[in-house]
Amino acid sequence: MLAELTHVCPLACPYCSNPMELTKRSNELDTDTWARVFSEAADLGILQLHLSGGEPASRRDLVDLVTAAREAGLYTNLITSGVGLTEAKLTALDAAGLDHVQLSVQGITAALADRIGGYKGGFERKMHVAERIAEIGFPLTLNAVMHRHNLDDLPATIALAQRLGARRIEVACVQFHGWAEANRGQLQPTVDQVHAAKATVEAERERLKGALVIDFVAPDWFSDFPKACMGGWGSTGLNITPSGDVLPCHAAETIPSLTFANVTQSSLSDIWYGDAAFSAFRGTDWMPPLCQSCDRRDIDFGGCRCQALAIAGDVTATDPVCRKSPDRAKVDALLNVAPSDAPFVYRARV
Ligand code: SF4
Ligand code: SF4
Repeated sequence: MLAELTHVCPLACPYCSNPMELTKRSNELDTDTWARVFSEAADLGILQLHLSGGEPASRRDLVDLVTAAREAGLYTNLITSGVGLTEAKLTALDAAGLDHVQLSVQGITAALADRIGGYKGGFERKMHVAERIAEIGFPLTLNAVMHRHNLDDLPATIALAQRLGARRIEVACVQFHGWAEANRGQLQPTVDQVHAAKATVEAERERLKGALVIDFVAPDWFSDFPKACMGGWGSTGLNITPSGDVLPCHAAETIPSLTFANVTQSSLSDIWYGDAAFSAFRGTDWMPPLCQSCDRRDIDFGGCRCQALAIAGDVTATDPVCRKSPDRAKVDALLNVAPSDAPFVYRARV
């Protein structure tokens, strides 16, 4: 379960996966409601809780929330930019039982990282926080969001993960919707860059076997088949927004035909088993005939519903990334975007 505690963040990355319309702090769930939701999540069988945002450290009650999650028996992972995490806060999080930290990096130099994050001095503070994370001994994953400006730095980014003592690096290429779509010309990598990155990942995985796990989330559009979005809609994960809406995937709000239940009105169990948004694309019954008759239907579950709507204009269509889709030509056309040097459209601040 991903708990988006807040949309408040000191950074303003131009690819931020938060929605274009951000939730104000005054509409966020309070501490007691989150604590109840964590307890309901554990009862439902959820094992892992990812505390995200925005910047989760922007919540003054972050330590209380970790305490509540651990008391509920959940494994807790803090997904943070590091900016705004003080030494005292890290120590308190350790005492509260936080299990794991996932630290995002916007680049391997201060110049690039601060430009991408729209926050001067952010890289230096992040490196300081990384040192403290290592001293405390939190298991660390480095989260590197990659695009045209930093994909060529992939070997150095992997080296940075090792230097910081990370056990795992998640190399996530920008997916173009929301804020990233508004910056597509500025951020989309070239086909050559993506091929080189795939080769780097393969070689580095072999070289660093046993020392560093490298997860690579390749950009969808450069592949022949879609990914299994969320491991299958409504099958293994759920997202809760800062105001308590429960989503089958973090971008599901881009599908206007769906409405979402809220944890202040219903229990998590009732939502998971009974909410129409969760059953809309669960399993294989909803699939178009092309996917129904395909031997990959239990592998990728027909791909991403948000992408089907955004590119094919039909939320029930085969994901247009798929080579079998009649809409694949639309994705191929998107691969040829002209690189733009226009200024970034930064994510709004709340
Ligand atoms: S992507 Fe950037 S702006 Fe968005 S929440 Fe993460 S650090 Fe903040
Ligand atoms: S036709 Fe559907 S199930 Fe088959 S590979 Fe394409 S998206 Fe996946």
